[in-house]
Amino acid sequence: MAGLPYIVGNWKMHGTRAMLGEVRAMDRAAQRFPKVQVAIAPPATLIYRAREAVELIGIGGQDCHAKETGAFTGDISATMLRDAGADFTIVGHSERRTIHAETDADVKAKAEAAFAAGLAVILCVGETESQRDAGNAESVVGAQLDGSCPSTEGVVEKLSIAYEPVWAIGTGRVPSIDDVAAMHASIRAKLVAIYGSAGADVRILYGGSVKADNASELLAVPEVGGALVGGASLTSESFLAIVGAAASRGEA
Ligand code: PEP
Repeated sequence: MAGLPYIVGNWKMHGTRAMLGEVRAMDRAAQRFPKVQVAIAPPATLIYRAREAVELIGIGGQDCHAKETGAFTGDISATMLRDAGADFTIVGHSERRTIHAETDADVKAKAEAAFAAGLAVILCVGETESQRDAGNAESVVGAQLDGSCPSTEGVVEKLSIAYEPVWAIGTGRVPSIDDVAAMHASIRAKLVAIYGSAGADVRILYGGSVKADNASELLAVPEVGGALVGGASLTSESFLAIVGAAASRGEA
């Protein structure tokens, strides 16, 4: 597993200009944590302003359309995200897969469009609670990876996978450390099966109720290369506590 720990905030449908102060505070503080890669995915309406407000941290989208332009009212293309100042985008978040009925094929097309536009990609996968209870968590996530990983050549260094158990998102519940370790090892094996030796370098993030008080433990799990953070990324105070935990990874 290569690279610095990657801590990414997903603001979902939260945030107006009044919250840009949080982004500025995160950016200023990121200077104290040069060994952590920090990024925020604000709502699309704030991407341009957030980009103008920061010097260090990454700014990204939460989704993109698979087509570059067209009659898709309300959608935003990867090229538009890039034009607004994004350097990455999330694709395949479980809220998109569930609420917007996105399939693995949709997610794959979006990831490939994002790469074509010059964006890095965070591709989300994760099982529901009933799938885990039925003992199918690893096979479900493996099938999601098979169906949604981009096939574009030479993209692997710009791809991160976020493992987000659906039942852990926004619930305050997290899987056991053993379950996180087992799933991340299984994802790693699948990435190597898909991409060959390059799959060993794809960053795998954990997401789902990451907070300051569980971040150190989760980030210490083998193959956990960072975190995708929802609720706790909405204030600089709670988000920076997670960034700080990532900075001290391996020092305990
Ligand atoms: C998310 O939305 O990607 C997420 C992980 O949310 P939360 O941290 O609030 O569970």
